[in-house]
Amino acid sequence: MKIGDKVRDILKELPPGCGLVAAAKSRSPEEVLEAAEAGVRIIGENYLQDAEAHFQVVGCRVSWHFIGHLQKNKVKKAVTLFDLIETVDSLELAAEINRRSRAINKTMEIFMEVNSGREPQKFGVMPEEVELLFSKISELSNVRVMGLMTMGPACSHPDDLRPYFKEIRLLWEGLKSSASLKAEMRYLSMGMSDSYRVAIEEGANLVRIGTGIFGPRITRT
Ligand SMILES: *Cc1c(COP(=O)(O)O)cnc(C)c1O
Repeated sequence: MKIGDKVRDILKELPPGCGLVAAAKSRSPEEVLEAAEAGVRIIGENYLQDAEAHFQVVGCRVSWHFIGHLQKNKVKKAVTLFDLIETVDSLELAAEINRRSRAINKTMEIFMEVNSGREPQKFGVMPEEVELLFSKISELSNVRVMGLMTMGPACSHPDDLRPYFKEIRLLWEGLKSSASLKAEMRYLSMGMSDSYRVAIEEGANLVRIGTGIFGPRITRT
């Protein structure tokens, strides 16, 4: 099936209020353009170099989310390219985003990435540390927390991810409803090609789909 047909199928399937991020790592600018022309509104990028190449062809008709691991020395460029950074997991990183955003007069929207599997080798803030990180980031002038993002551990079956997704949804709802935190928290980004249906059932309102749109990734060396 063509990229455009896959996009249209997925958009038809998503419930109202659920957004789609097309995860574009390792894809050509032409492939990303095809997805945008079929109705994708948000492109997710893991690498700045990819993002720049994609942006040159696709431009401002879509919004751009950073979904990879962001190194501090790449923040300056990232804040110029992206509309939202989904993977903030430390105050240090948030502070650097704040500093670089303020320098260009921008307020950067971010999600906090949560390590829902509590895996030491993975990125993301531990679930029990999310609230504290949120309140610290809230003090920064040029960063706005718009939601939570999680990957979840590698599982043999998408159903095995339910408890992780559910925990993050409850965390998200707690932050949203806390009067003292005044969190905007509009988005809950979870679920990928093999798990987005389960994630939506567990409350996701933003799913990140790569292979389901573009086909299998050919690993580059
Ligand atoms: C690659 C990637 C996805 C999409 O994964 P697929 O299995 O190709 O759908 C989603 N989120 C993040 C953070 C990714 O790096």
